[in-house]
Amino acid sequence: AVRMEGVNKWYDAFHALKNIDLTVGRGERIVICGPSGSGKSTLIRCINQLETIHSGRIVVDGHDLTAGGRNVDLVRQETGMVFQQFNLFPHMTVLENCTLAPMKVRGLAKAEAEETAMKYLKRVRIPEQAVKYPAQLSGGQQQRVAIARALCMNPKIMLFDEPTSALDPEMVKEVLDTMVDLANEGMTMLCVTHEMGFARSVADRVVFMDRGEVLEIAPPDAFFGAPQHERTRFFLGQIS
Ligand code: ATP
Ligand code: MG
Repeated sequence: AVRMEGVNKWYDAFHALKNIDLTVGRGERIVICGPSGSGKSTLIRCINQLETIHSGRIVVDGHDLTAGGRNVDLVRQETGMVFQQFNLFPHMTVLENCTLAPMKVRGLAKAEAEETAMKYLKRVRIPEQAVKYPAQLSGGQQQRVAIARALCMNPKIMLFDEPTSALDPEMVKEVLDTMVDLANEGMTMLCVTHEMGFARSVADRVVFMDRGEVLEIAPPDAFFGAPQHERTRFFLGQIS
């Protein structure tokens, strides 16, 4: 579903992504981890072109992003993204947050968009919050709205960038649970997270990044049981 080949990106003189090769199959769950500043957010932001790359190729669901143009819009529509800061529209209700893009971008009628929104709000277990504003919700609830909002666009791929890092500990589980549900439904997922329990139980493969490089890619058993790289061992030693 996603193919990155020889991807390089610079921020001015800073080489943020170095020759990234990564292929993610349909329905595959990938967890990306690594130290702060290693390029994790940059990598997933390149997949929906929130960042542009300087060389290499990214193909998402058959659309070559390098070609630009209409492919970029298509890929953005098919790619749901959930951020550390929930990025909900504060002046809109939960329901309005969820129906905006389907109505504007997909051209759904209001009733249809609301029906879809309620379906996903039920799926993330907060249908009763639909008429509230984001500020009236807990962090965990807001993040579940963000997930529901992304799902309302019927994405083929979900990108998560540290979705639980801004949450109080007691709310982490409810968000991880909804991510596990999604994974069980067969969604293609790329998740930047330091929740290694989630990685162990859900990931098909774990990617370790350091200093703009992908140093190691392995299934969780191998990744945690026998990390190949010294820097991976050091990182795992620090966070566990
Ligand atoms: P964290 O775990 O802290 O979120 P990360 O692995 O997600 O880190 P990135 O945000 O991808 O790291 O950043 C990778 C590197 O690129 C960092 O050194 C960062 O300072 C730099 N960088 C990121 N965004 C920009 C930008 N817009 N302009 C310049 N440098 C940037
Ligand atoms: Mg980041």
